Amino acid sequence: MTITENISLKEFTTFRIGGNARFFCTVKKEEEILEAFSFAQKNKLQVFVLGGGSNILISDNGFDGLVIKMEMKGIEFLPDESGNVRVTGAAGEDWDSFVGKCVEKELYGIETLSYIPGTVGAAPVQNIGAYGSEAKDTIDCVRAFDIKTGEFISISNLDCHFSYRDSMFKKNPGRYIVTSVTFILKKEGKAVSDYKDVRDYFSKKGIESPTLSQVRDAVIYIRQNKLPDVKLIGTAGSFFKNPFVTYEEAHALKAKFPEMPAYPVNDKVMKIPLGWIIDHICNYKGISKGEVGTYKNQALVLVNNGNATAEEVKQFAGEIISIVKEKTGIVVDPEVEYIG
Ligand code: NAP
Repeated sequence: MTITENISLKEFTTFRIGGNARFFCTVKKEEEILEAFSFAQKNKLQVFVLGGGSNILISDNGFDGLVIKMEMKGIEFLPDESGNVRVTGAAGEDWDSFVGKCVEKELYGIETLSYIPGTVGAAPVQNIGAYGSEAKDTIDCVRAFDIKTGEFISISNLDCHFSYRDSMFKKNPGRYIVTSVTFILKKEGKAVSDYKDVRDYFSKKGIESPTLSQVRDAVIYIRQNKLPDVKLIGTAGSFFKNPFVTYEEAHALKAKFPEMPAYPVNDKVMKIPLGWIIDHICNYKGISKGEVGTYKNQALVLVNNGNATAEEVKQFAGEIISIVKEKTGIVVDPEVEYIG
């Protein structure tokens, strides 16, 4: 394993923003993590693990530590005694190809998570979710290297403390390096999603009971039309989390903005689509300030118009956070992680 110095991180992120890593290495197997870890310890360096770089905003000053680019590959399918299949993906596998392979094998459970950019290793960190399912619904356990103890451990679903776009990995940045994730997928199931976009897609096609691969195709089609192509436009996808509010707060907002959608999460809170608020209440959809803007088809997505800096993105995001607070009282949280 080679450790290099002063490597530009911009090219490793879908936002295409950020300065240099002081030290940089790629790891393809677990032993290399131990090597990287001992280098970081010896030199008293902070460690940052880079996957697909699709949910991060790296500082213009870069990262003054060791960046470990995760490139561990491999997928294993193991039928279990209850008729389900335990699928283990190495952390460096591309997430969407992983979903594609599971759908090809007719395994149910992650089909609506198609086309989310990133790696398998990043899926539990952010507890990725879309169109009615989240990674936590099918994750059995996560294998990780614990930087604090210097050991490889297996963490059960329960111990990952998953919640909406959150987990204990996200709450303890820099502590764990995920090396693989095991999912339990079903051989039989019903591939449905009652989310409006998915429902509309199938009703237009006159399909009542879509197959697994039809659901995957639908999600890919919807996402391709709503979100920018990361090969062409710098972006980290949804920049903010969709906020949860109490029923009282939701009703007060509905009285002011009757068209506003709101979805029950449980008997205490509702989820509000922030993209709708940024678009319809703040009138910020498709606008640009200098090199940063909101995407024309989805206001929750911030885009780099070409030469944006991390500072400009932070400033623009801060402006959106303030205007949402001023108009609705809602305090918005970024979904994208700031590094450096
Ligand atoms: P959307 O489908 O317009 O949904 C906007 C918001 O409304 C989300 O909070 C969504 O909840 C909620 N929602 C919509 N229909 C719902 C229903 N039938 N029941 C309950 N909640 C409902 O959002 P979008 O921006 O176009 O994104 C599409 C999907 O991709 C969403 O599920 C979104 O969360 C997901 N996504 C995930 C990531 C990620 O994991 N990093 C990034 C981008 C988008 P949920 O968020 O709980 O689904």
